[in-house]
Amino acid sequence: MDKIRMPNAIAELDGDEMTHVLWGMIKKELIEPFVELNTEYYDLSLPNRDRTEDAVTRQAADAIKRLKVGVKCATITPNFQRQEEYGLRQLWKSPNATVRAALDGTVFRAPILLSRVKPVVTCWEKPVTIARHAYGDLYKAVEYRVPGAAKAELVVTDENGAELSRQTVYDFKGPGVVQAMHNRDDSILSFARCCFTYALSVKQDVWFGVKDTISKGYDQTFKLLFQQVYDEEYKTAFEAAGLHYRYGLIDDIAAKVIRSRGGMVWACKNYDGDVMSDLIAAASGSLPMMTSVLVSPDGCFEYEAAHGTVTDHFYRWRRGEKVSTNPLATMFAWAGALRKRGELDGIPALGHFADCLERAGLDVFEEGHFSEDLAMLCDPADYTDSPDNDTLIALIRARLGQLLNA
Ligand code: NAP
Ligand code: MG
Repeated sequence: MDKIRMPNAIAELDGDEMTHVLWGMIKKELIEPFVELNTEYYDLSLPNRDRTEDAVTRQAADAIKRLKVGVKCATITPNFQRQEEYGLRQLWKSPNATVRAALDGTVFRAPILLSRVKPVVTCWEKPVTIARHAYGDLYKAVEYRVPGAAKAELVVTDENGAELSRQTVYDFKGPGVVQAMHNRDDSILSFARCCFTYALSVKQDVWFGVKDTISKGYDQTFKLLFQQVYDEEYKTAFEAAGLHYRYGLIDDIAAKVIRSRGGMVWACKNYDGDVMSDLIAAASGSLPMMTSVLVSPDGCFEYEAAHGTVTDHFYRWRRGEKVSTNPLATMFAWAGALRKRGELDGIPALGHFADCLERAGLDVFEEGHFSEDLAMLCDPADYTDSPDNDTLIALIRARLGQLLNA
C-alpha cells in the first residue's frame, strides 16, 4: 500500500514522561507506516525548555500560527518539586498557557465515548463539548489577605489618572479577604467567535450561561457581547444549518445539560469551564478519555489530550514494570490534526486515515482490551484484559491495518 502524501507540515510539539513515550510509539507504529508524515518538530520536554529558556515554546506557537495546525503532547508544568527533580533555572510557565496566549485561542474539550463504558449520566447519547474561555477572571485576579479592620475600595482611573469610579468593596471590622477580577471586550468577543465558528464546523448548537442577574456589570457584559456576535455575525449561518444559540443562567444551563441528550458546545467562563470540563469528563467515563483542541479566532487549530504526562506510570515504566496507559486521547489528537490538515489541503485520504486511526483504537477497547484506567469502569462481562502499552499498540496497529485495507 502506498503511503498517504502530506505536502504541508503540521507543527509537532513533543512533551514529557509517559505521554512522550506513547507519542513515539503512536508515531512509529500507527502513523509512519501509513503516512509520509510531514511535521515541524519542536521538543517541549522540560529539559529542552530549560535549555532554550523557553524559546522553543514560543517558536512552536509561531509555527502553529504559520502552519494553521499543530499537535501537542502533554508537558510538565514545573513546580518547586519539579525544579529540584530537573535542576531547572526557573519555574517556566505552562506551555499551554503560552500557546493559548499567542493564539488568543479557546479550548474545546470533548469526551471520547465507548459503548462499553456507560456515562454516569445515562441520557447522554453524544459527547458534551466544553468551550472554556481561557483569559482573565479568577486566573488574572488581584487578591489581598486583609489582616484586620480596614476599608477596601475599587478605584478606576483613566489613562490621564483622572478618577472614573470609586466604590467601597467592604468596610472590614476584622480580618478577611478581597479580590478584584477583570476581563476585556476583545477577549470576550474572540471567545464568542471561536465558539460559534467551532460549533458551525462540528454542526452543534451553542449553549452559554452566566450569572447576569447577580453580576449586572461583569457577567452581563459577557451575555450582551455573545448576543451581539451571534446576531451580527452568525445568526444567518446558524439558521441555515438548522442550529441554535441558547442563552440561560449558568445554574439553569448546568441543570439542562445534565438532562439533555448531549451533543452541544457548552461555552463557559474561565472558572466554570475549569470545573465543568473535569465534571463532564468524569461523568462521561474517565478523566483520561478527554480530547482537547485550541481554536484561534482566525482559524488555527492545536490538538492535544486533555490529561497530563501520567507521571506515576512513567516512574513505574522506568523501573522496568509493565504499565497499561490509555493512548486514545493522544491518538485522537493526532487524528484531529491530520484530519484538519487534510481538510485545509483538500486531501480526503488524510481524513480517512484519521477516521480509521480513531476507529482502530475504539474497536480494540470495544473488543474488551481496556487500558487499566477503564478496567474498573466497564461491565466485568465485557472485560478481557488490560494489555501493557506495547501489546495494546500492537493490537491497535493490527486493527488499523485491517481498516485501511478494507
Ligand atoms: P495526569 O498526568 O493527567 O494524571 C492524573 C491521573 O490520571 C494519573 O495518575 C492516572 O491515574 C490517570 N491518568 C491520566 N491520564 C491517563 C492515561 N492516559 N492512562 C491512564 N491513566 C491516566 O495529571 P497529574 O498527575 O495531575 O499531572 C502530571 C503532570 O502532567 C504534571 O507535571 C502536570 O504539570 C502535567 N499536566 C500537563 C497537562 C498538559 O500538558 N496539557 C495537563 C495536565 C497536567 P492512576 O494513577 O489512577 O493510574
Ligand atoms: Mg481543572
